[in-house]
Amino acid sequence: MAMTRKIAIPVICLAILFFLEYLGILAGMNNYFYDLAFRIRGPDKPLEKIIIVAIDEKTLATLGRWPLKRSIYAAALEKMRGADAIAFDVLMAEPSRDDAALAAAIKNHGGVIMPVVIEENMTLGYPSKTLAPFRTGHVHIERSIDGIAREVYHTLYFQGHMLPSLSSVLVEIAGKTTFPHAKPPTAKSDNQNIIQSDLMRINFYGGPGTFPRISMLDVVNGVYPPAYFKGKVILVGATAMGLVDSAMTPYSETRMGTSGVEIQANIINNLFMDDAIKVVPLTIRWIIGLTLALLLYFLFLRITEGRGAILLIFAIVLYSLFIFLLFSQKHIWFAPAGAYIAFLIIFAAAYIFKLHEAAVSLGITYEAIQPHLRIPEARGRSIIVRKGISGLLTPGGIQSQAFVLNDITNQLIFEKELSDRILLSDVFGVAVFDPKGGLVIANRDVHDFCRANTISLDGRDRFMEGLTPFIMEKGNEGALFDEWLQRTPMTVSLTKPDKQYLKVDISTLPVGEKQYSLFILTNITKLKEVEILKGQIVSIVSHELKTPMTNIMGFSEILVEELEGEMKHFAGIIQEESVRLTKFVNTFLDINRIEEGRQQIKMVPVLLSDLLEEAALTLSPLAEKKGIKLLLQKVVDRPTPVSADRDLTKQCMINLAENAMKYSPPNREVTLQIEETADTVRVNIIDQGYGIRNEDLNNIFEKFFRSSSEETEDIKGSGLGLSFVKEAVEAQGGQIAVTSTYGQGSTFSLVFPKAA
Ligand code: ADP
Repeated sequence: MAMTRKIAIPVICLAILFFLEYLGILAGMNNYFYDLAFRIRGPDKPLEKIIIVAIDEKTLATLGRWPLKRSIYAAALEKMRGADAIAFDVLMAEPSRDDAALAAAIKNHGGVIMPVVIEENMTLGYPSKTLAPFRTGHVHIERSIDGIAREVYHTLYFQGHMLPSLSSVLVEIAGKTTFPHAKPPTAKSDNQNIIQSDLMRINFYGGPGTFPRISMLDVVNGVYPPAYFKGKVILVGATAMGLVDSAMTPYSETRMGTSGVEIQANIINNLFMDDAIKVVPLTIRWIIGLTLALLLYFLFLRITEGRGAILLIFAIVLYSLFIFLLFSQKHIWFAPAGAYIAFLIIFAAAYIFKLHEAAVSLGITYEAIQPHLRIPEARGRSIIVRKGISGLLTPGGIQSQAFVLNDITNQLIFEKELSDRILLSDVFGVAVFDPKGGLVIANRDVHDFCRANTISLDGRDRFMEGLTPFIMEKGNEGALFDEWLQRTPMTVSLTKPDKQYLKVDISTLPVGEKQYSLFILTNITKLKEVEILKGQIVSIVSHELKTPMTNIMGFSEILVEELEGEMKHFAGIIQEESVRLTKFVNTFLDINRIEEGRQQIKMVPVLLSDLLEEAALTLSPLAEKKGIKLLLQKVVDRPTPVSADRDLTKQCMINLAENAMKYSPPNREVTLQIEETADTVRVNIIDQGYGIRNEDLNNIFEKFFRSSSEETEDIKGSGLGLSFVKEAVEAQGGQIAVTSTYGQGSTFSLVFPKAA
């Protein structure tokens, strides 16, 4: 199917071209190449025996005005006796007084030809009877539509007369041969019709002045001896300005015409030399041209466009060379315009078919990929992608194909981004939502757990809404996606289908200019269970410790009071250590409670400055004991209240201030400060103590972590104080921050958002 079309279309185009050439549409172009061929070939040497006797300005000036007296022609004929044939291109239709002398001279010479013309009013212009007997020949030269003389008809039939061309008669006389004139037409033609036959293409030997030309005056005056004319053929005609009947020839680049006699000279030369231009008939040209064109076509289909173009140029050049050689060496004219156009047409056809094929495969690719496109622009777009080149040329055609590529590109970027993110995570479930919140993709596991827990996947907002009750981190709930982005990662605890914990990582996925929302869920059930189990074990052990510790603390206190000497000292150590151990157990239990969400958090509006004052009061005995100067500093007069749990926050302040004193050498300052920013209230606890090494800063909030240096080695502690502060402040929606310079001091800050 495709193949028949591939052949049929160029063949139809070529057939149309052939028809157009048959109608003559390409004649102008071919004439141009024809003349060009002459000019490239250049002038040729004509026969020496053809001589033009010119009735020039000089002749007219000396021998009298036009028309010349016939006695002058008679005199000239007398001088040119020796010539083989003499043809006049001067019409002598009217009788004249001195005709007798000329008639005698004509008769005397025997080889004189007089011109005949068919006048514009369709009458025959014959030489005057008074000059008879004489031979006649017509001097009509055929001109093409562009006015250039290229052809001559050697035989005309007009009003029952057979008119041979002047040149054919002359050659017959001079060469003593007979010209093979065409037979008269059988059908009787009407009187107005000229029937032309024996067409000949004139092979011009050059521009004006190619043939030797002598002046009539010089002939009459006997400048040339009779021997000069021996064996010559003479053409007598006017060349003087104003008399010349000139015509353009292929050599007339400079609008300068060639005189009628000189054109006749060219024709005569052609007949003597038998070197007129032979024209290759249309059908033969077309058989050759068509074969070549089809051959080229199959080559074009097989090679790349660039090589095709080179081949095209090569073919045209080679073809032109062949035509030129044929013309210049063999005088055969092979009109090239049709073939040139045919080559161009088939090149274009091959090119268009290739374009078509490319367009078809683009269309097929899109059709194949469209069902897989996930991004909504691509799914929603209802472009009718018509396959092939017609699809490219329809309104929005190329544009729609460009959209297709754009969709595919976006899809690939989307998939790549997605897979990159997922590759880097321990994925359990994935859900992606488009910029408008519609679900783009969610995997099986997400679908399963959503169904089991009646969480809707119908849009991002509903998904988030469904997930909210299962989120374990409390205290900073918000329904907006941007708020969730702040909270990521989160932990959700599900009971259906089984008890499981999922970590939810939330991020945005940019595709083009749009932002997609990506939820990646990781199953952390095992991890979480181990963590919880550990917590439970620890808390059970701790509770078991609490009662005996209270007893030890109470009884050791009594023992300290009752005992004396060394025993009292020992009892004192028991009491001190039991206090420390109790505190440790209590802090540990506090942290656990908060972590597991069992700690009652009472959020009320609180002025942090008040709390800080209370904490300072509690701490002043300790400060005094250590010789530390405790400074209370308010940066603003009326601090903004925040929402917090009073007891927990105060405990945090105390823990931080205790640390500040504990990790400072004596006689330093500890500053308790309230500071406000645009949307937070901060409590800064600034010390001038030992400071913390940079590498430890990230770890100090971990349970049981204690950084050690030479200075702090002997300071007792549990590594739980900061863990408690962090858990407690975050449970209230606040944050802890720290900056420290080793050897110079640290600043710990509790940061609370201002109450809305
Ligand atoms: P500890 O019971 O050891 O004080 P914390 O959790 O309170 O436990 O502190 C953890 C570690 O952080 C401490 O061991 C100490 O090295 C370091 N640290 C805490 N506060 C300060 C401070 N103000 N200056 C220097 N180091 C500190």
